[in-house]
Amino acid sequence: MKINANYLNLNESYLFSTIAKKVNAYTQAHPEKKVLRMGIGDVTLPLAPAVVSAMQKAASEMGEKETFRGYGPEQGYPFLKEAIRGYYASRGISLEEDEIFVSDGAKSDVGNILDIFDTDNTVLVPDPVYPVYVDTNVMAGRRIVFADAAAENGFLPMPDENTDADIIYICSPNNPTGAAYSAAQLAEWVAYARKKGAVILYDAAYEAFVSEKGLARSIFEVEGAKECAIEFCSLSKTAGFTGTRCGYTVVPRALVRGGASLNKLWLRRQTTKFNGVSYIVQRGAEAVFSEEGMAQVQKNLEVYRRNAAVLSECLDSLGIPYTGGKNSPYIWMKCPGFSDSWKFFDYLLEMANVVGTPGGGFGKNGEGYFRLTAFASEEATKEAAERLKLLFSK
Ligand code: PLP
Repeated sequence: MKINANYLNLNESYLFSTIAKKVNAYTQAHPEKKVLRMGIGDVTLPLAPAVVSAMQKAASEMGEKETFRGYGPEQGYPFLKEAIRGYYASRGISLEEDEIFVSDGAKSDVGNILDIFDTDNTVLVPDPVYPVYVDTNVMAGRRIVFADAAAENGFLPMPDENTDADIIYICSPNNPTGAAYSAAQLAEWVAYARKKGAVILYDAAYEAFVSEKGLARSIFEVEGAKECAIEFCSLSKTAGFTGTRCGYTVVPRALVRGGASLNKLWLRRQTTKFNGVSYIVQRGAEAVFSEEGMAQVQKNLEVYRRNAAVLSECLDSLGIPYTGGKNSPYIWMKCPGFSDSWKFFDYLLEMANVVGTPGGGFGKNGEGYFRLTAFASEEATKEAAERLKLLFSK
């Protein structure tokens, strides 16, 4: 028996468990302190009423002989795929129903998609970025090269003709930097991928936060993207589904590599290893895309946008450089006076009782930076901003 020894090459501890351990140790030592958690990217506002009533109705259906449902289609119920199709159509993107695959969230799909690619591929990953892309490829033993994101390129690396890559990750708006590509910038990535015969894995988990004109919400806004890209999306941040679990992945029919349709390979993978998302959750997800649901979801997004504005204004007033906060729930700030982001984490926890995420946890280029999120309550966000002002205006 041989284990998958690639697992031994993973960093020992997942970023957020290390943070949780540090925060727990601090709160145990200082039970009187009120710690403000501006670190983990989890939402805090409840599900929209339209979603809740759709799920209640679906739960009742499951309790009646006539309307009970067993296994559903692995790729998702047609009613939800139709709703997602409509969501894309409202943004001028036309998809076929069988190009949409409903799942229990983007994290699973981003990891699982790698099943359809050989391990003998070179993967291009932005640095810094959501750690799942690197870890899932380390698990498979793939070669990883990095696209450097830094203040100089606005944290938006562009393709380099001299770098060869087969699988390209793009996360826009980016976690952790909040930087978002324009369609014109994405067009350069599409051209590069087509030239190299590569596939772009486009993570649009935060597309709903894009508010500035000219910035892309989907890679399929770019002509030719359907021949080289797969898009992952999630209701986690859009509609507060982090605990409810629902996402979707778009694999265009036009995407062919090695003579095979990637849509067919993914369908084969999903029908073999996945048994679909619960009917109740899919009814809830369908309600997100209704007129009523969309309006309610936007209200919650507005709260997070206001929080991001509060944090941005605070950093502006302190003269601390940052990106994000406008088209993203993340604010990516330079650690004032610190080059080690974990040391800054400890300092902020100790001095202001504010928890953030050290940039170093997202890649080597994240060192010296720190991620704050807009997902805390309005009160906590305002208080955190006040504490930052007090600490750094000295
Ligand atoms: N992709 C990115 C960039 C994320 O930041 C996250 C969660 O934080 C996910 C995917 C995971 O989303 P889901 O909850 O749908 O699994």
